[in-house]
Amino acid sequence: MAKVKAIRGMNDILPEQTPVWQYLENTVKAVLSEYGYNEVRMPIVEQTELFKRSIGEVTDIVEKEMYTFEDRNGESLTLRPEGTASCVRLGEEHGLLFNQTQRLWYTGPMFRYEKPQKGRYRQFHQIGVETFGMASADIDAEVIMLSARLWKKLGLLDAVTLQLNSLGSNEARAEYRAALVEYLEARKDQLDEDSLRRLESNPLRILDSKDSSTQALLDDAPVLSDYLDDDSRAHFSDLREMLDAAGVKYEINPRLVRGLDYYCKTVFEWVTDKLGAQGTVCAGGRYDGLVKQLGGRPTPAVGFAMGVERLILLLETLDVIPEGVRQPFDLYLAAEHKGLQNQVISLAEHLRDAVPGLRVRVHCAGLKNIGAKARQTGAPLIALVKQADEGLVATLWQGEEPRFDIAQADLDTVIKAVWNA
Ligand code: ATP
Ligand code: MG
Repeated sequence: MAKVKAIRGMNDILPEQTPVWQYLENTVKAVLSEYGYNEVRMPIVEQTELFKRSIGEVTDIVEKEMYTFEDRNGESLTLRPEGTASCVRLGEEHGLLFNQTQRLWYTGPMFRYEKPQKGRYRQFHQIGVETFGMASADIDAEVIMLSARLWKKLGLLDAVTLQLNSLGSNEARAEYRAALVEYLEARKDQLDEDSLRRLESNPLRILDSKDSSTQALLDDAPVLSDYLDDDSRAHFSDLREMLDAAGVKYEINPRLVRGLDYYCKTVFEWVTDKLGAQGTVCAGGRYDGLVKQLGGRPTPAVGFAMGVERLILLLETLDVIPEGVRQPFDLYLAAEHKGLQNQVISLAEHLRDAVPGLRVRVHCAGLKNIGAKARQTGAPLIALVKQADEGLVATLWQGEEPRFDIAQADLDTVIKAVWNA
Protein backbone atom coordinates (compact mmCIF):
# COMPACT_ATOMS: atom_id res chain seq x y z
CA MET A 1 0.00 0.00 0.00
CA ALA A 2 1.28 3.47 -0.84
CA LYS A 3 2.41 5.34 2.25
CA VAL A 4 0.78 8.62 3.22
CA LYS A 5 3.20 11.52 2.79
CA ALA A 6 3.38 14.96 4.38
CA ILE A 7 1.67 17.81 2.54
CA ARG A 8 3.83 19.64 0.00
CA GLY A 9 5.46 22.68 1.53
CA MET A 10 4.79 21.49 5.09
CA ASN A 11 7.99 20.26 6.62
CA ASP A 12 8.84 17.76 9.29
CA ILE A 13 11.52 19.03 11.62
CA LEU A 14 13.84 16.13 12.35
CA PRO A 15 15.78 15.26 15.52
CA GLU A 16 19.07 16.59 14.15
CA GLN A 17 17.39 19.90 13.24
CA THR A 18 15.43 20.59 16.41
CA PRO A 19 18.52 21.53 18.44
CA VAL A 20 19.17 24.34 15.95
CA TRP A 21 15.53 25.46 16.21
CA GLN A 22 15.79 25.44 19.99
CA TYR A 23 19.06 27.35 19.86
CA LEU A 24 17.43 30.05 17.73
CA GLU A 25 14.24 30.14 19.82
CA ASN A 26 16.16 30.30 23.10
CA THR A 27 18.41 33.08 21.84
CA VAL A 28 15.37 35.08 20.72
CA LYS A 29 13.61 34.48 24.04
CA ALA A 30 16.67 35.63 25.96
CA VAL A 31 16.87 38.87 23.96
CA LEU A 32 13.12 39.53 24.29
CA SER A 33 13.31 39.04 27.99
CA GLU A 34 16.21 41.52 28.15
CA TYR A 35 13.76 44.07 26.74
CA GLY A 36 10.90 43.11 29.07
CA TYR A 37 8.53 41.56 26.51
CA ASN A 38 5.69 39.15 27.41
CA GLU A 39 4.76 36.04 25.46
CA VAL A 40 1.20 35.43 24.20
CA ARG A 41 -0.15 32.27 22.60
CA MET A 42 -2.95 32.52 20.07
CA PRO A 43 -5.00 29.79 18.36
CA ILE A 44 -3.81 28.69 14.93
CA VAL A 45 -7.32 29.04 13.47
CA GLU A 46 -9.35 32.26 13.42
CA GLN A 47 -12.48 33.53 11.72
CA THR A 48 -11.70 34.32 8.08
CA GLU A 49 -13.15 37.78 8.59
CA LEU A 50 -10.29 38.73 10.91
CA PHE A 51 -7.66 38.39 8.17
CA LYS A 52 -9.82 39.89 5.44
CA ARG A 53 -10.45 42.98 7.54
CA SER A 54 -6.86 43.45 8.66
CA ILE A 55 -4.47 42.28 5.96
CA GLY A 56 -6.64 43.73 3.19
CA GLU A 57 -8.88 42.18 0.52
CA VAL A 58 -6.57 42.93 -2.36
CA THR A 59 -3.29 41.64 -0.95
CA ASP A 60 -1.47 38.50 -2.11
CA ILE A 61 -2.24 36.81 1.18
CA VAL A 62 -6.00 37.29 1.14
CA GLU A 63 -6.42 36.97 -2.63
CA LYS A 64 -4.56 33.73 -3.11
CA GLU A 65 -2.63 32.41 -0.16
CA MET A 66 -5.08 31.64 2.65
CA TYR A 67 -6.10 28.18 3.80
CA THR A 68 -9.80 28.81 4.28
CA PHE A 69 -12.43 26.19 5.04
CA GLU A 70 -15.86 25.78 6.52
CA ASP A 71 -16.16 24.00 9.83
CA ARG A 72 -19.07 21.68 10.59
CA ASN A 73 -21.25 24.66 11.50
CA GLY A 74 -20.67 26.30 8.15
CA GLU A 75 -18.53 29.04 9.71
CA SER A 76 -15.65 30.27 7.52
CA LEU A 77 -12.34 29.68 9.29
CA THR A 78 -8.75 30.30 8.18
CA LEU A 79 -5.40 28.87 9.24
CA ARG A 80 -3.55 32.00 10.29
CA PRO A 81 -1.26 33.37 7.55
CA GLU A 82 0.44 35.73 10.02
CA GLY A 83 0.23 36.70 13.66
CA THR A 84 -0.43 40.44 13.90
CA ALA A 85 -4.18 40.25 13.28
CA SER A 86 -4.61 37.45 15.84
CA CYS A 87 -2.50 39.33 18.35
CA VAL A 88 -4.64 42.46 17.97
CA ARG A 89 -7.76 40.30 18.29
CA LEU A 90 -6.37 38.76 21.47
CA GLY A 91 -5.44 42.13 22.90
CA GLU A 92 -8.86 43.65 22.18
CA GLU A 93 -10.77 40.64 23.41
CA HIS A 94 -8.98 40.67 26.76
CA GLY A 95 -8.84 44.40 27.30
CA LEU A 96 -5.05 44.65 27.02
CA LEU A 97 -4.91 47.55 24.60
CA PHE A 98 -7.00 50.54 25.60
CA ASN A 99 -5.08 53.13 27.59
CA GLN A 100 -2.16 50.79 28.23
CA THR A 101 1.19 49.93 26.79
CA GLN A 102 2.03 46.36 25.84
CA ARG A 103 5.15 44.67 24.56
CA LEU A 104 4.18 41.22 23.32
CA TRP A 105 5.70 38.37 21.34
CA TYR A 106 4.58 35.00 20.03
CA THR A 107 5.89 32.14 17.96
CA GLY A 108 4.36 29.38 15.93
CA PRO A 109 3.38 28.06 12.53
CA MET A 110 1.75 30.22 9.86
CA PHE A 111 0.07 28.94 6.71
CA ARG A 112 0.12 30.35 3.19
CA TYR A 113 -0.67 28.60 -0.07
CA GLU A 114 2.49 29.56 -1.94
CA LYS A 115 4.77 27.82 -4.42
CA PRO A 116 7.13 25.84 -2.18
CA GLN A 117 10.84 26.53 -2.74
CA LYS A 118 13.93 27.21 -0.67
CA GLY A 119 12.92 29.62 2.09
CA ARG A 120 9.24 29.60 1.06
CA TYR A 121 6.88 27.00 2.48
CA ARG A 122 3.16 26.48 3.02
CA GLN A 123 3.58 25.91 6.72
CA PHE A 124 6.36 28.11 8.05
CA HIS A 125 7.20 29.60 11.41
CA GLN A 126 7.42 33.14 12.60
CA ILE A 127 8.51 34.78 15.78
CA GLY A 128 6.52 37.97 16.03
CA VAL A 129 6.86 41.03 18.22
CA GLU A 130 3.99 43.52 18.65
CA THR A 131 3.89 46.65 20.78
CA PHE A 132 0.81 48.73 21.56
CA GLY A 133 -0.01 52.11 23.00
CA MET A 134 3.20 53.92 22.06
CA ALA A 135 3.02 56.51 19.30
CA SER A 136 6.48 58.06 19.22
CA ALA A 137 9.51 56.89 17.29
CA ASP A 138 11.37 55.61 20.36
CA ILE A 139 9.44 52.34 20.28
CA ASP A 140 10.08 51.94 16.54
CA ALA A 141 13.75 52.35 17.40
CA GLU A 142 13.48 49.85 20.25
CA VAL A 143 12.02 47.03 18.16
CA ILE A 144 14.64 47.62 15.48
CA MET A 145 17.47 47.72 18.03
CA LEU A 146 16.14 44.58 19.62
CA SER A 147 16.33 42.80 16.28
CA ALA A 148 19.82 44.18 15.65
CA ARG A 149 20.94 42.85 19.04
CA LEU A 150 19.54 39.47 18.10
CA TRP A 151 21.47 39.34 14.82
CA LYS A 152 24.60 40.25 16.73
CA LYS A 153 24.06 37.46 19.24
CA LEU A 154 23.43 34.97 16.46
CA GLY A 155 26.46 36.06 14.42
CA LEU A 156 24.27 37.30 11.56
CA LEU A 157 24.76 41.05 11.82
CA ASP A 158 27.29 41.25 8.97
CA ALA A 159 25.02 39.26 6.67
CA VAL A 160 21.87 41.38 6.98
CA THR A 161 20.99 44.92 5.94
CA LEU A 162 18.25 47.05 7.42
CA GLN A 163 15.99 48.72 4.86
CA LEU A 164 13.84 51.52 6.07
CA ASN A 165 11.03 53.64 4.67
CA SER A 166 8.12 55.75 5.81
CA LEU A 167 4.67 55.26 4.32
CA GLY A 168 3.24 58.40 5.90
CA SER A 169 -0.32 58.86 7.05
CA ASN A 170 -3.30 57.29 5.27
CA GLU A 171 -4.11 60.68 3.74
CA ALA A 172 -0.55 61.24 2.50
CA ARG A 173 -0.49 57.76 1.05
CA ALA A 174 -3.83 58.30 -0.72
CA GLU A 175 -2.51 61.49 -2.28
CA TYR A 176 0.66 59.71 -3.39
CA ARG A 177 -1.35 56.77 -4.72
CA ALA A 178 -3.31 59.11 -6.97
CA ALA A 179 -0.10 60.65 -8.33
CA LEU A 180 1.49 57.25 -8.89
CA VAL A 181 -1.60 55.91 -10.67
CA GLU A 182 -1.72 58.97 -12.91
CA TYR A 183 1.95 58.48 -13.84
CA LEU A 184 1.56 54.75 -14.50
CA GLU A 185 -1.79 55.02 -16.30
CA ALA A 186 -0.02 57.08 -18.94
CA ARG A 187 2.58 54.29 -19.36
CA LYS A 188 0.28 51.31 -18.99
CA ASP A 189 1.69 49.55 -22.06
CA GLN A 190 5.10 49.20 -20.35
CA LEU A 191 3.79 47.51 -17.19
CA ASP A 192 4.08 43.79 -16.47
CA GLU A 193 0.90 41.79 -16.09
CA ASP A 194 0.88 41.66 -12.28
CA SER A 195 1.49 45.39 -12.00
CA LEU A 196 -1.27 46.12 -14.47
CA ARG A 197 -3.68 44.24 -12.25
CA ARG A 198 -2.40 46.06 -9.17
CA LEU A 199 -2.83 49.42 -10.83
CA GLU A 200 -6.54 49.03 -10.14
CA SER A 201 -6.44 47.22 -6.84
CA ASN A 202 -3.26 48.01 -4.92
CA PRO A 203 -1.00 50.37 -6.88
CA LEU A 204 1.59 50.86 -4.14
CA ARG A 205 2.54 47.21 -4.44
CA ILE A 206 3.81 47.96 -7.95
CA LEU A 207 6.77 49.64 -6.23
CA ASP A 208 8.14 46.27 -5.14
CA SER A 209 7.50 44.54 -8.48
CA LYS A 210 10.33 42.16 -9.37
CA ASP A 211 9.92 43.00 -13.09
CA SER A 212 12.96 44.93 -14.38
CA SER A 213 11.15 47.03 -16.98
CA THR A 214 8.55 48.02 -14.38
CA GLN A 215 11.38 48.92 -12.02
CA ALA A 216 12.99 51.04 -14.75
CA LEU A 217 9.69 52.77 -15.34
CA LEU A 218 9.54 53.64 -11.64
CA ASP A 219 12.86 55.50 -11.78
CA ASP A 220 11.06 58.63 -12.94
CA ALA A 221 7.81 58.05 -11.05
CA PRO A 222 6.70 60.29 -8.19
CA VAL A 223 8.32 59.27 -4.88
CA LEU A 224 6.43 58.66 -1.68
CA SER A 225 8.82 60.72 0.45
CA ASP A 226 7.75 63.89 -1.40
CA TYR A 227 4.19 63.31 -0.20
CA LEU A 228 4.85 62.64 3.48
CA ASP A 229 2.81 64.65 5.98
CA ASP A 230 4.71 66.75 8.54
CA ASP A 231 3.96 64.39 11.41
CA SER A 232 5.28 61.34 9.55
CA ARG A 233 8.29 63.30 8.35
CA ALA A 234 9.18 64.30 11.93
CA HIS A 235 8.56 60.76 13.16
CA PHE A 236 10.86 59.33 10.51
CA SER A 237 13.61 61.80 11.27
CA ASP A 238 13.33 61.06 15.02
CA LEU A 239 13.68 57.36 14.27
CA ARG A 240 16.73 57.84 12.09
CA GLU A 241 18.33 60.02 14.74
CA MET A 242 17.84 57.31 17.38
CA LEU A 243 19.18 54.60 15.12
CA ASP A 244 22.19 56.77 14.28
CA ALA A 245 22.83 57.37 17.97
CA ALA A 246 22.60 53.65 18.65
CA GLY A 247 24.96 52.86 15.78
CA VAL A 248 22.37 50.82 13.88
CA LYS A 249 23.09 51.08 10.17
CA TYR A 250 20.26 51.26 7.64
CA GLU A 251 19.48 52.03 4.02
CA ILE A 252 16.51 54.14 3.04
CA ASN A 253 14.55 52.19 0.44
CA PRO A 254 11.92 54.55 -1.00
CA ARG A 255 10.21 51.61 -2.73
CA LEU A 256 9.73 49.52 0.38
CA VAL A 257 5.96 49.31 0.91
CA ARG A 258 5.32 45.82 2.42
CA GLY A 259 2.57 43.50 1.26
CA LEU A 260 -0.05 44.13 3.91
CA ASP A 261 -2.50 47.01 4.01
CA TYR A 262 -2.30 47.93 7.66
CA TYR A 263 1.10 49.64 7.77
CA CYS A 264 1.64 53.40 8.12
CA LYS A 265 4.68 55.57 8.87
CA THR A 266 7.68 53.29 9.59
CA VAL A 267 8.21 50.12 7.58
CA PHE A 268 11.40 48.06 7.63
CA GLU A 269 12.92 44.82 6.45
CA TRP A 270 16.12 43.00 7.34
CA VAL A 271 17.38 41.44 4.12
CA THR A 272 20.27 39.22 3.19
CA ASP A 273 21.87 38.44 -0.16
CA LYS A 274 22.92 34.98 1.05
CA LEU A 275 19.63 33.15 0.49
CA GLY A 276 18.77 33.93 -3.13
CA ALA A 277 15.31 35.28 -3.88
CA GLN A 278 13.91 34.65 -0.39
CA GLY A 279 16.14 37.27 1.19
CA THR A 280 13.88 38.96 3.74
CA VAL A 281 14.42 37.37 7.14
CA CYS A 282 12.46 39.86 9.22
CA ALA A 283 9.89 42.48 8.33
CA GLY A 284 7.62 44.90 10.11
CA GLY A 285 6.48 48.39 10.75
CA ARG A 286 3.95 50.68 12.36
CA TYR A 287 0.24 49.97 12.13
CA ASP A 288 -1.52 52.72 14.07
CA GLY A 289 -4.86 52.20 12.29
CA LEU A 290 -5.31 48.47 12.71
CA VAL A 291 -6.79 48.25 16.20
CA LYS A 292 -9.52 50.73 15.26
CA GLN A 293 -10.05 48.98 11.96
CA LEU A 294 -10.78 45.80 13.90
CA GLY A 295 -13.31 47.53 16.13
CA GLY A 296 -11.14 48.81 18.99
CA ARG A 297 -10.26 52.34 20.04
CA PRO A 298 -7.43 54.03 18.18
CA THR A 299 -4.19 52.48 19.47
CA PRO A 300 -0.73 53.10 18.04
CA ALA A 301 1.24 49.94 17.36
CA VAL A 302 4.57 48.75 15.95
CA GLY A 303 5.76 45.22 15.33
CA PHE A 304 7.67 42.81 13.16
CA ALA A 305 7.87 39.12 12.35
CA MET A 306 10.90 37.06 11.55
CA GLY A 307 10.89 33.94 9.41
CA VAL A 308 12.35 31.11 11.45
CA GLU A 309 13.13 28.81 8.50
CA ARG A 310 14.98 31.58 6.67
CA LEU A 311 16.99 32.48 9.77
CA ILE A 312 17.95 28.84 10.21
CA LEU A 313 18.98 28.62 6.56
CA LEU A 314 21.10 31.71 7.10
CA LEU A 315 22.71 30.31 10.27
CA GLU A 316 23.56 27.14 8.34
CA THR A 317 24.77 28.96 5.23
CA LEU A 318 27.10 31.16 7.28
CA ASP A 319 28.13 28.22 9.44
CA VAL A 320 27.68 30.20 12.65
CA ILE A 321 25.85 27.62 14.75
CA PRO A 322 27.99 27.20 17.87
CA GLU A 323 29.75 23.92 18.35
CA GLY A 324 27.81 21.69 20.72
CA VAL A 325 24.35 23.00 19.76
CA ARG A 326 23.61 19.85 17.81
CA GLN A 327 24.84 17.49 20.58
CA PRO A 328 21.75 16.53 22.60
CA PHE A 329 23.60 15.07 25.61
CA ASP A 330 26.83 15.44 27.54
CA LEU A 331 27.44 11.98 28.91
CA TYR A 332 26.86 8.60 27.30
CA LEU A 333 26.62 5.94 29.97
CA ALA A 334 26.85 2.23 29.17
CA ALA A 335 27.65 -1.09 30.78
CA GLU A 336 30.77 -2.77 29.50
CA HIS A 337 29.37 -6.24 30.08
CA LYS A 338 26.11 -8.02 30.69
CA GLY A 339 24.12 -8.04 33.92
CA LEU A 340 24.93 -4.44 34.93
CA GLN A 341 22.02 -2.59 33.32
CA ASN A 342 20.13 -2.10 36.59
CA GLN A 343 23.20 -0.54 38.19
CA VAL A 344 23.81 1.64 35.14
CA ILE A 345 20.23 2.94 35.23
CA SER A 346 20.40 3.83 38.91
CA LEU A 347 23.87 5.35 38.43
CA ALA A 348 22.38 7.57 35.70
CA GLU A 349 19.60 8.68 38.06
CA HIS A 350 22.18 9.41 40.75
CA LEU A 351 24.29 11.48 38.32
CA ARG A 352 21.24 13.52 37.21
CA ASP A 353 20.64 14.35 40.89
CA ALA A 354 24.24 15.02 41.74
CA VAL A 355 25.26 17.07 38.68
CA PRO A 356 22.31 19.40 37.89
CA GLY A 357 22.05 20.20 34.20
CA LEU A 358 24.17 17.24 33.10
CA ARG A 359 22.44 15.54 30.17
CA VAL A 360 22.86 11.79 30.45
CA ARG A 361 21.92 9.31 27.74
CA VAL A 362 21.93 5.67 28.84
CA HIS A 363 22.82 2.94 26.37
CA CYS A 364 19.81 0.60 26.09
CA ALA A 365 20.64 -2.08 23.53
CA GLY A 366 23.14 -4.88 22.86
CA LEU A 367 26.65 -4.57 24.25
CA LYS A 368 28.69 -5.63 21.20
CA ASN A 369 31.49 -3.10 20.35
CA ILE A 370 30.12 -0.87 23.04
CA GLY A 371 33.16 1.46 23.10
CA ALA A 372 32.96 2.14 19.36
CA LYS A 373 29.19 2.61 19.47
CA ALA A 374 29.48 5.07 22.33
CA ARG A 375 32.11 7.10 20.46
CA GLN A 376 29.91 7.19 17.36
CA THR A 377 27.34 9.19 19.33
CA GLY A 378 29.79 12.10 19.42
CA ALA A 379 29.30 12.41 23.16
CA PRO A 380 31.73 14.79 24.86
CA LEU A 381 31.92 12.33 27.77
CA ILE A 382 31.54 8.56 27.81
CA ALA A 383 31.44 6.38 30.91
CA LEU A 384 31.65 2.61 30.50
CA VAL A 385 30.68 0.80 33.68
CA LYS A 386 32.24 -2.50 34.66
CA GLN A 387 32.49 -4.77 37.67
CA ALA A 388 35.96 -4.73 39.25
CA ASP A 389 37.20 -6.54 42.37
CA GLU A 390 36.83 -3.37 44.43
CA GLY A 391 33.23 -2.79 43.20
CA LEU A 392 31.59 -0.88 40.35
CA VAL A 393 34.08 1.15 38.29
CA ALA A 394 33.59 3.45 35.32
CA THR A 395 36.09 4.08 32.57
CA LEU A 396 35.72 7.72 31.63
CA TRP A 397 36.46 8.99 28.12
CA GLN A 398 36.68 12.59 27.18
CA GLY A 399 37.21 13.02 23.44
CA GLU A 400 40.62 11.62 22.59
CA GLU A 401 41.90 12.06 26.15
CA PRO A 402 43.47 9.04 27.82
CA ARG A 403 40.91 7.06 29.73
CA PHE A 404 40.96 6.50 33.46
CA ASP A 405 39.00 4.30 35.84
CA ILE A 406 36.96 5.86 38.61
CA ALA A 407 35.17 4.20 41.47
CA GLN A 408 31.39 4.58 41.29
CA ALA A 409 31.33 6.67 44.45
CA ASP A 410 33.66 9.29 42.94
CA LEU A 411 32.11 9.41 39.50
CA ASP A 412 29.82 12.42 40.13
CA THR A 413 32.70 14.54 41.52
CA VAL A 414 35.00 13.70 38.62
CA ILE A 415 32.30 14.26 35.99
CA LYS A 416 31.37 17.58 37.56
CA ALA A 417 35.01 18.66 37.39
CA VAL A 418 35.68 17.63 33.79
CA TRP A 419 32.23 18.74 32.57
CA ASN A 420 32.63 22.24 33.99
CA ALA A 421 36.18 22.60 32.77
P1 ATP B 1 7.88 37.58 0.95
O1 ATP B 1 8.02 38.90 0.27
O2 ATP B 1 9.17 36.83 1.04
O3 ATP B 1 6.74 36.77 0.41
P2 ATP B 1 6.16 38.62 2.97
O4 ATP B 1 6.23 40.07 2.82
O5 ATP B 1 5.00 37.87 2.43
O6 ATP B 1 7.52 37.93 2.46
P3 ATP B 1 5.66 38.82 5.80
O7 ATP B 1 4.22 38.59 5.70
O8 ATP B 1 6.16 40.17 6.09
O9 ATP B 1 6.37 38.24 4.50
O10 ATP B 1 6.28 37.80 6.86
C1 ATP B 1 7.43 38.11 7.65
C2 ATP B 1 8.53 37.11 7.40
O11 ATP B 1 8.05 35.77 7.42
C3 ATP B 1 9.17 37.22 6.02
O12 ATP B 1 10.11 38.23 5.99
C4 ATP B 1 9.81 35.86 5.88
O13 ATP B 1 11.03 35.80 6.58
C5 ATP B 1 8.80 34.96 6.53
N1 ATP B 1 7.92 34.33 5.53
C6 ATP B 1 6.84 34.87 4.90
N2 ATP B 1 6.26 33.99 4.08
C7 ATP B 1 6.99 32.83 4.19
C8 ATP B 1 6.89 31.53 3.61
N3 ATP B 1 5.91 31.21 2.76
N4 ATP B 1 7.81 30.60 3.95
C9 ATP B 1 8.81 30.90 4.82
N5 ATP B 1 8.94 32.09 5.42
C10 ATP B 1 8.05 33.06 5.11
MG1 MG C 1 4.68 36.72 0.69
